[in-house]
Amino acid sequence: MPKFPTVSVLSLAVALAAGAQESIAPLPAPPAPPSGRMAPRPTAPAITAGDLRSRLYVYADDSMGGREFATEANTRATAWIAEQAKRIGLLPGGENGGWFQVLPVIMRPLDETRVIATDAGPLGWWTDLVPRDQGPGARAIDGVPTIFAGTWGTPNMITDAQAAGKVVIVLPNAANPQNTQVPGATINRGLVSARYKSAAGILVPTLERIPAEVRASLREPLMLMKSDDPTSPRPSFMYAAAAVGRQLMGAAVESLQPGATGKALRGNIVYDERPISSPARNVIGILPGSNPGLKGQYVAVGAHNDHVGTHGPAVDHDSLYLFLHMFQPLGADMNAPKLTPGQQARFASALDSVRKLRPARLDSIYNGADDDGSGTVTILEVAEALAAARVKPQRSIIFVWHTGEEAGLFGSAWFTDHPTVSRDSIVAQVNIDMVGRGDPWDIVGGKPGYLQAIGSRRLSTELGALVESVNTEKKHGISFDYQYDANGHPQQYYCRSDHYMYARYGIPIVFFSTGGHPDYHQLTDEPAYIDYDHMAQVANYVLDLVQAIANLDHRVVVDKPRPDPRGQCVQ
Ligand SMILES: [Zn+2]
Repeated sequence: MPKFPTVSVLSLAVALAAGAQESIAPLPAPPAPPSGRMAPRPTAPAITAGDLRSRLYVYADDSMGGREFATEANTRATAWIAEQAKRIGLLPGGENGGWFQVLPVIMRPLDETRVIATDAGPLGWWTDLVPRDQGPGARAIDGVPTIFAGTWGTPNMITDAQAAGKVVIVLPNAANPQNTQVPGATINRGLVSARYKSAAGILVPTLERIPAEVRASLREPLMLMKSDDPTSPRPSFMYAAAAVGRQLMGAAVESLQPGATGKALRGNIVYDERPISSPARNVIGILPGSNPGLKGQYVAVGAHNDHVGTHGPAVDHDSLYLFLHMFQPLGADMNAPKLTPGQQARFASALDSVRKLRPARLDSIYNGADDDGSGTVTILEVAEALAAARVKPQRSIIFVWHTGEEAGLFGSAWFTDHPTVSRDSIVAQVNIDMVGRGDPWDIVGGKPGYLQAIGSRRLSTELGALVESVNTEKKHGISFDYQYDANGHPQQYYCRSDHYMYARYGIPIVFFSTGGHPDYHQLTDEPAYIDYDHMAQVANYVLDLVQAIANLDHRVVVDKPRPDPRGQCVQ
């Protein structure tokens, strides 16, 4: 039996329950895509929906294990990309003449053999104390006095000067959470570390208020890239049980006035540094330019090769799909809504109609077909068409499949800090992330040819104009949505994907995406729900845009201020 026997069952159920959506603008039910998987077959030079489908069913298959950064599954996925790049005739553009650029990723597990204690005795890791890794620059806290700062975001908190060299005890503020995981229990670590940058440590005594699954996620060791930049010192950070606060301050912390001082902790928070077991690597392929005078310049084309791995425990695919398409149109970009009794009844009846047709199918793999399997295979298809073209672009094209995007733009940060071609020779970057959806049942405003364009005019007016003119002159029928490019847009897409790592160095970029949908960062982001004709339309457009940039008789003109490469990105 094919993997998704009759997806129309799901769309039927969604249609049945269409009336159920009471939260955000209802999305129409998705149509039934062709059922069954597609056996991989040789691809042709021309860009076709069939080639895109053939590759995506391989790249986003369960066997790729969700391609999480710094795992064996991601390493395997990058090997597949390199094999494809070689087959279509690109040249290796990585390190040492190879296809890859390996990131010096280290894992920093906590050294649990160390002891931290108060006068009342040693504290239990994860039960009394949950440290958060502030990186190699975190300050020592052994024997350092404590001081109560107050409640976060209230006017009478102590100053950084008062906190200097001490362990600061801060209470979170449910009324003023400022983008933290559990309002009233956790605190925005970046903001509090900036506020008390001179403190030796920050202790938040609300461990009991943090739900068990969140507490479990806080145990994940930090992964970072071993960098040669000196690390700037910063305060250590820990959540602690309320009792620890009481032991240090001699009273319940909630009863104290800001500025109250207390006893010291004994011992330090220490992390080991271990290399990761499987190489985390960018894949880089080059198509040399045909013009001797211009082939030393590069148009960079990018996508990311990683996704978010697996989910434990496995869940039933169909009920998740139904729930998302009925009540959670933004997928992981919104919290799962609490259903009203009416909604629960409708959901149950929709699921019933599916159960009549087939049993539950357990799913635990984030296939990331759209994110960013679609970008990965789209730029492979663009590369194949360019490599097979009789007339090659005048400038060279460098294709970079970045790793670690989901973990924090690791691959693109490393590539642009340590490019394998001179950074100055990169004239522009075209970034593709999630171009497999964009239909009316995926996003408000979705339609054939729908494409979000972000950043095209932020460094170069000319690039912005080229994005438009290639579409009109070559009659691609792309309908651009620029709303996500607005300054201050809450989604901050300009800062949220790999293109910004190029833009920060003053390289003009344009980022294309067909946007969010109910399956975003969900187990249901699978190849069966991808719109391959839409994707082929985008790929053909990108092909022409890349050629247009590569064949300009001058470098794309940068006429806007260049950001500080080390500065904070704000859209
Ligand atoms: Zn992505």
